[in-house]
Amino acid sequence: MNRLYLSPPYMSGLELELVKEAFSTNWIAPLGPMVDAFEAEICACTGARHALAVSSGTAAIHLSLMLLGVTAGDEVLCASFTFAGSAFPIRYLGATPVFVDSEETSWNMDPALLEEAILDRMKRGKTPKAAIVVHLYGQSADLDAIMEVCARYGIPVIEDAAESLGTLYRGRPTGTLAPLGVLSFNGNKIITTSSGGMLLCHDGDLAARGKSLATQAREPCPWYEHHAIGFNYRMSNVLAAIGRGQLKTLEERVARRRVIFDQYTRMLAQLPGIRFTSDPPWGRSNRWLTCIRIDSALSGVTPEEIRLALEQENIESRPLWKPMHLQPVFGECPAYTNGVSENLFNEGLCLPSGNGLSDADLNRVVDVIKNTVRSH
Ligand SMILES: *Cc1c(COP(=O)(O)O)cnc(C)c1O
Repeated sequence: MNRLYLSPPYMSGLELELVKEAFSTNWIAPLGPMVDAFEAEICACTGARHALAVSSGTAAIHLSLMLLGVTAGDEVLCASFTFAGSAFPIRYLGATPVFVDSEETSWNMDPALLEEAILDRMKRGKTPKAAIVVHLYGQSADLDAIMEVCARYGIPVIEDAAESLGTLYRGRPTGTLAPLGVLSFNGNKIITTSSGGMLLCHDGDLAARGKSLATQAREPCPWYEHHAIGFNYRMSNVLAAIGRGQLKTLEERVARRRVIFDQYTRMLAQLPGIRFTSDPPWGRSNRWLTCIRIDSALSGVTPEEIRLALEQENIESRPLWKPMHLQPVFGECPAYTNGVSENLFNEGLCLPSGNGLSDADLNRVVDVIKNTVRSH
């Protein structure tokens, strides 16, 4: 049996023509017309005012923190339930992440706990410099509530929409509601450039500064002149061609992933102890990955037993993200917790959800899970 992966790259068939165009015009080096067109198309598709194509989502988060003036000794609020790429750039700048746990509805940052965290940090003498909100697994966070809390204390918000391209929050694309937003085109995301990311930005001056920082901070001079420390963070023109081909089919991708989620739900939700999480009332998820929660007391099986049974049949599955406040590398960082993300980590499992997953593939996954639960 062929191996089923969680979310492998899925080609639309339109990519190669665009890559050929990049080759035939010899625009191989970083930057070029494909990058400009990809940025314009992302703006058109999301409604973002400015978009800056960069080498990764992590680079885009690093840039956004620099644009907000985060420096050594600062504190930055960050969702605890996320991938480490959300939080690492805080440390690149010598700042300290302050982790905030999740609410049950969307699994993302809990606005009430966020306010508690802010008040406690202020009492200890520091107002956090920024807040990184994540739309995990493509489920949008409770953004209005979060942005209202942050606005009350003058804290700018960065949306980590790395997993949520195509997700809507009250009808508007995630990544475009806060002043700064971040996309990722890593190999496992809903669209990929093999690796890459995008910084979305409302403000033209910020966008221009971001572009300069990402392009080695070169001043417009005939010689190489630098007034700031820069980074080599731009996306290559060849990779942007792949991204353009991918982006053309975004809506179909979201539709298919939502069907995959619905099929899993229909076929598995009647099993004892298997739970799915529906769209939060404020958003439409892109269903990047279908995640299940397993109540071992009811189902008789642990998530790990299901994972191993799937692995036996050459099917990849994986626990949900391990919260940052439980990561040894962030052991010393302050965290405001309520047990939600820890439960999700202990109970959750991500299932194969890629756009190439056929109905037969999906049945293969479902059968293994059914048999594992029923044999207990
Ligand atoms: C993938 C991901 C990132 C990092 O993106 P890269 O392009 O891999 O650097 C950041 N945050 C989240 C939530 C992600 O899933």
